[in-house]
Amino acid sequence: MKIIDDLFAMRRDLISDGFDEALNYLSKLIPLRIHRYPTGSNCWTWTIPKKWSVTEAYIEALNGDRLVDLKNHPLHVASYSCPIDEVVDKDEIMRHLYFSEGRPSAIPFAYKYYDKTWGFCIQKDRMSNFVYDKYRVVIKSKFEDGEMKVGECTLKGKTDNIVVLASHLCHPGIANDDLSGVSVMVDIYNVLKDRNNYYTYQFLFVPETIGSIAYLSHNADILLKSKCGIFMDMMGNKEPLSLQYSKLGNTPIDRIAKRVFAEKFQRFEERKYLAGMSNDEKVFDSPGVDIPMVAINRSPYPEYHTSDDNPDIISEDKLNESKDVVLKIIDIFDRDYIPVRNFTGPVFLSKYGLWVDWHKDYKLNKAIDQIMLRMEGDKTVFDISEEVGLSFNDTVKYVDMFHKQGLITKTWIA
Ligand SMILES: [Zn+2]
Repeated sequence: MKIIDDLFAMRRDLISDGFDEALNYLSKLIPLRIHRYPTGSNCWTWTIPKKWSVTEAYIEALNGDRLVDLKNHPLHVASYSCPIDEVVDKDEIMRHLYFSEGRPSAIPFAYKYYDKTWGFCIQKDRMSNFVYDKYRVVIKSKFEDGEMKVGECTLKGKTDNIVVLASHLCHPGIANDDLSGVSVMVDIYNVLKDRNNYYTYQFLFVPETIGSIAYLSHNADILLKSKCGIFMDMMGNKEPLSLQYSKLGNTPIDRIAKRVFAEKFQRFEERKYLAGMSNDEKVFDSPGVDIPMVAINRSPYPEYHTSDDNPDIISEDKLNESKDVVLKIIDIFDRDYIPVRNFTGPVFLSKYGLWVDWHKDYKLNKAIDQIMLRMEGDKTVFDISEEVGLSFNDTVKYVDMFHKQGLITKTWIA
C-alpha cells in the first residue's frame, strides 16, 4: 500500500520526469538496472516518442470562470496533449472533452501518445457548466528529445532460462491499474530473492506496450532464454482474480496457473489470449516473440481508467491474495522437471525406501505404479500429478526420492 500511496499522484506519463522519478523510487526497494531508449530510435516497427511534460492546463470562459484545471487532478489533461493557448468556440471544445458515461462523477483517463492533438478529461456531471460560446484553452506542455526508461531486475537462478514477471508503470493518477501490479511484483521479488530458484527471474517495470517493445527488440538473447511469463496488473480491487491464458493456451505455465486457480477458487474467470483487458502480454506473446505469458488481474472493475481508481479501492488483503496466487504458480513451475527413468521393470520399492504403506497413505500407495509408468521423458512431474490425481507437492516429493536413489535423471523443458 505504501508503494501505491507514494507513486499514485506522480505524473508517470510514458516518457516523463514523473516516470523516471517512479523508477528511481522503485530502485531503492529492488535493485533495478535502468535501460534507456532515446527518442526517435526504432524498435521493430515502432519509434520511441518524445518526452512529454506539462506545467499548466485549464479551460476557462472569457469571464474568467475556470471550468477545468489540471491543478485539481492529474487526469484532467489527456496525456501527451499538444500545447495550445487559444480562444475556441463551443463546438471545438466539445470535440476535445472526454467524460465517462458510466461514471459521471469520475474523470476518465485519456492519452494521445501518437495523435498530435489535445484533450481534457472531466466529470460528465460538470459538462452542464459549458454554457458559453467561447473558451480560452491553455495547455503549457512540452515535447522534447528524451529517453524512455525500462526498469529491469534479474534474479539469477540455477539456469539461465528466464521467467519474465512484468507490470507497467505509466498510468498517472491511477492506482489499481497499474501500481497494484508493481507493488505485488516488489513483494514477489522479496520472497524469491531469499530462495534457491531453478529459473532466473526477470522483473520488468515498463511504460505499457512501447516499453516492452523497446526492451525485447534490444535484447534478442532474453527473447531466446525466456521460457514463459506472468503479467500482473489490477491486483488490489475487490473483484475476483481472473486468469488469461497465453497465445497457445496449453503451455506449462498455462496449465499450472489453471490448476492453482482451480485449487484456490471454487469458480474463476478464465479467458483466452487477449480476450480480456490486455496489457504487455500482447508484446511478449506476439508474432516472432512468442514468450507464453499468462495475465493475472481482477478485471473488469467499474473504476477502470477513471479517477475512481484510487488507493481507496485497494485492500492489502486482495494484494496479498494476488501475491500468493502468483507465488504458488511460480513455486510449482520452478520445482517442476521431466523425470527420465534409469531403471528397467518395476522398481523394487522396499530396497530403495520407496515403499509406501497403504495404511499410512492409501492415495500415494495406489498411485505409485501409475507414477512409474510415466517416467519416459515425455511428461513433467506436474503432468504426472495431474494424471494420477495427486497434489503437485506430494508427487514431486515422491519423484524426488527416485532421483535421490539414482533411479531417474532430471531434465527440463527445452
Ligand atoms: Zn490501463
